[in-house]
Amino acid sequence: MTSAVTARAPAKVNVHLAVGPLRADGFHELRTVYLAVSLFDTVTARPSDGLSLTVSGEGTGPGAGADVVPLDSRNLVWRAAELLARHAGVPADAALDVVKTIPAAAGLAGGSADAAATLVALDALWGTRARREDLAGLAAELGSDVPFSLHGGVALGSGRGEQLSPVLARRRWDWVLGIAGEGLSTPAVYAELDRLRADGKVPDGETLAPAEPVIAALRSGPPQALAAALLNDLQAPALALRPALRRALRAVSDAGAAAALVSGSGPTVAALADDERGALRLAAAVAGAGVFRTVRAVHGPVPGARLVT
Ligand code: ATP
Repeated sequence: MTSAVTARAPAKVNVHLAVGPLRADGFHELRTVYLAVSLFDTVTARPSDGLSLTVSGEGTGPGAGADVVPLDSRNLVWRAAELLARHAGVPADAALDVVKTIPAAAGLAGGSADAAATLVALDALWGTRARREDLAGLAAELGSDVPFSLHGGVALGSGRGEQLSPVLARRRWDWVLGIAGEGLSTPAVYAELDRLRADGKVPDGETLAPAEPVIAALRSGPPQALAAALLNDLQAPALALRPALRRALRAVSDAGAAAALVSGSGPTVAALADDERGALRLAAAVAGAGVFRTVRAVHGPVPGARLVT
């Protein structure tokens, strides 16, 4: 019998995030380009009677705030386990240990990465042999970003972000992530966007910005072309809710980034570098500015949720 299975899944940066108006179902129509980057959470699954969960690493432990990463059925890992068990007709028996490197509520899809890694780990532990399309279907039930966490690489997301088509990126892209001390709630950022739109302070989103420029830039570079094409409709509401982000973006530009934007719903700032050496230099300069809790140099695209051998 299998004794332990570990899977890992990456964080994401949205290099294009165009947000449509609020839909009747409470979601917003998105046109987004996801890039999976080299910051990974791991989930280890062991045989057990019933379901149990531990979480360690980023966003956990003393000072993290009591409810940042829930340890019960509100955790996406827990929900992923129950959903796969129901789908496969097996009991949801597993002891799950999550080690987080991706900070919570940071706009990097950490919870989605954990859910995707859980699907992959438990599929192996339970021998359910779900087809990749079935896992993708379960992922979409768990959350809008979970299918991408499973898929990885680069992809165009439509619908609420869960409908994916792969995008070709011929080169490696280097980034520096500036991570804030306190997270931002994704629903609060969307609600602020709706408010800004109702007040006429930002465009209404009826026409979604095309993703072609960013897709063309990703395919062939150079970094200046990608820098010019980056777009995030959630940046304005994230800045409205967290004015300190303006100073953070300025600090990153002053440190020499080719471009910088808020990642997803924030508050992480993603800064584009020319190459790996440039990213290491930029990370050191950004860390010196003292506006972030943590600074990480990462690259993408990287694969989606996979077993760790
Ligand atoms: P998004 O996918 O919307 O960009 P995010 O990256 O900003 O989300 P997450 O780290 O996924 O944020 O966490 C958002 C919220 O989800 C957390 O505040 C927490 O309450 C809840 N959550 C549930 N499961 C997890 C998990 N495994 N890790 C982190 N947060 C989780």
